[in-house]
Amino acid sequence: MNRNLQGIEISGIRKIFNKLQEVPDAISLTLGQPDFKVPDRIKRAMVDAINNDNTIYTANAGIYELRKEICSYLEGYNINYEPEEVCITVGGSEGLYSVLSALINPGDRLIIPDPAYPAYKSIGTILGAEIDEYKLQEDFSLNFEDLKLKIKKGSNNILVLSFPSNPTGAILSLEDRKKLQELIKENEILVITDEIYSALCYSEYYSVAECQDIKEKIIYVSGFSKMFSMTGLRVGYVCAPKEILREIMKVHQYNVSCATSISQYAALEGLRSSMGDVNYMKETFRERRDFVYYKLLKLGFQCNLPQGAFYIFPSIKGFNIKSEDFCDDLLYKGKVACVPGTAFGARGEGFIRISYSYSKEELQEALFRIEKWIDKK
Ligand code: PMP
Repeated sequence: MNRNLQGIEISGIRKIFNKLQEVPDAISLTLGQPDFKVPDRIKRAMVDAINNDNTIYTANAGIYELRKEICSYLEGYNINYEPEEVCITVGGSEGLYSVLSALINPGDRLIIPDPAYPAYKSIGTILGAEIDEYKLQEDFSLNFEDLKLKIKKGSNNILVLSFPSNPTGAILSLEDRKKLQELIKENEILVITDEIYSALCYSEYYSVAECQDIKEKIIYVSGFSKMFSMTGLRVGYVCAPKEILREIMKVHQYNVSCATSISQYAALEGLRSSMGDVNYMKETFRERRDFVYYKLLKLGFQCNLPQGAFYIFPSIKGFNIKSEDFCDDLLYKGKVACVPGTAFGARGEGFIRISYSYSKEELQEALFRIEKWIDKK
């Protein structure tokens, strides 16, 4: 067995999911899966892809029309790539794995946020990277003092940025993007920016990938799981300068050959015709976010108003109980499942993650149950 696997535990999200099976009448707010159906035009495009026999291998990098459409879409956000700088992947997950595999030599420094989406640490550990986790500010924005300390001269530094953030809902501000631009310019560093939730930003969206002067150091990872509510169709993409993409493609090719052809046609149709659906989903998420945020404040939780994605990360420090115990008690006694903050890193202690990608009715009932559970404490 690969010895590096010994450093990897089953994910905290999976743990709570397993416990959830013991409490069948509980309401789960644990998943990062929007409750919307895939837009109809996307469904039809998949059926057409089958009927047109578009069921064979595509180019390793994915169908050209999709790569081109992604470039036009990103241009709308001031992010400039050519189709030759794009590789379609099996979800953002394979994108991240292929990028990290291409970049990391054992002992290289992988600098990741804490708390963060758990895959960064796990993949880095499997690949033998030295993981260093940077602190975030109280509002979950970047802490540049700490970040600067993490970038070590004479080492290969690979920095992961993750905005809009799972689990915190934080996004990158213009001010921080400018500071990052300087930091990246001044240091020998490669940056992976995971922007899988970029279509779900409730205020202005900024990305380091907009900065042309540092483009050769940036690798952009994104995908359609969240944007088109099609998590099971598994389409994502990576954009990078050609020399870097060529190396990433070696991993991608020998791992998956190409992303599923039918799903690629689905994503293509989505970009061409379903942005109205995306907007509708975003506005619905915004309403749910406001509902959950104000209700949590009323119940005495401290929390930041999330500016992106569909998660809220309230502090439970006032309850004087560890995150995992809090979530266990809430599940077994209050019949609501949330994810302990520690599932996202040690600095997630004192927080819980609530996903508001559930219907308003479920959210209402869950918050009502949380209120009752708190009253009994
Ligand atoms: N990045 C982040 C921050 C995520 O939360 C997720 C999924 N929850 C992914 C990447 C991967 O998503 P997918 O493979 O479905 O594109």
